[in-house]
Amino acid sequence: MLLVKRSICKSTTFQKCGGQTSSIVQRADTACAYCGQRTDRLTRDHVVPKALWGNTKLPPRMVTAPCCKSCHRYWDGEVEYFRNILVAQIDRHAHRVSDHLLEGPVIRSLKRNSQAWKDFFRNARLVELRNRSGIILAYRQAFEMDMSRFSRSISKIVRGLFYKKSHRPLAPGYRVEVAHGDEFWQDEGFQHNLAIMEPWASYGDDVFMLRCARDSSDWNKTAWLLRFYCSIAVYAWTEPDAGAQLMTGG
Ligand SMILES: [Zn+2]
Repeated sequence: MLLVKRSICKSTTFQKCGGQTSSIVQRADTACAYCGQRTDRLTRDHVVPKALWGNTKLPPRMVTAPCCKSCHRYWDGEVEYFRNILVAQIDRHAHRVSDHLLEGPVIRSLKRNSQAWKDFFRNARLVELRNRSGIILAYRQAFEMDMSRFSRSISKIVRGLFYKKSHRPLAPGYRVEVAHGDEFWQDEGFQHNLAIMEPWASYGDDVFMLRCARDSSDWNKTAWLLRFYCSIAVYAWTEPDAGAQLMTGG
């Protein structure tokens, strides 16, 4: 039995993700993977948006999940911001697909869509770059990223991936948490979960890759390490909404 110290990741003992065999499995595709609504009017949604590939070739194993109409409409409206803000964080020449997006689709979307422009350049300002003596070397344009909006898209992806792994939506009473920034790499709870995560999996290319682990005592508790364009790593996990964070593993 193990107790993992409470940390920013608030994680407990996880075991590797596997297929769901519990009796709580619902009949396939009767509920929206994102909001859990049961309806017979479901559509298919790409868990990781196709827009992340732009006009380049899609990998062979794109994953879809059942999605209700209102979730589909909502997430459709979020794709552009998510893609633009993701790609804007990546250095030039770091990845052929992010380069292609920056040079084409991202620029076009900002020019075409005034709301996308406003969202993207939110609180834009010039930032001074100084040397050690405090002398200004240059100015650089800085933008404020809407972290909660970005995190919502990450949690949508996690819910979709959870659905694919478990054949059901995340249970009511559980939420997705997303670590802000990259400080999670130093976190004890994250390191514990990283050690037991499955190896990297992909859709067939390196635009999007993932690793995951599942809690041995609670199938709804999972941990996810997502990687975009070999450059940006995001850590997210699922946990009870208000429940105790310290739990014992089996
Ligand atoms: Zn829905």
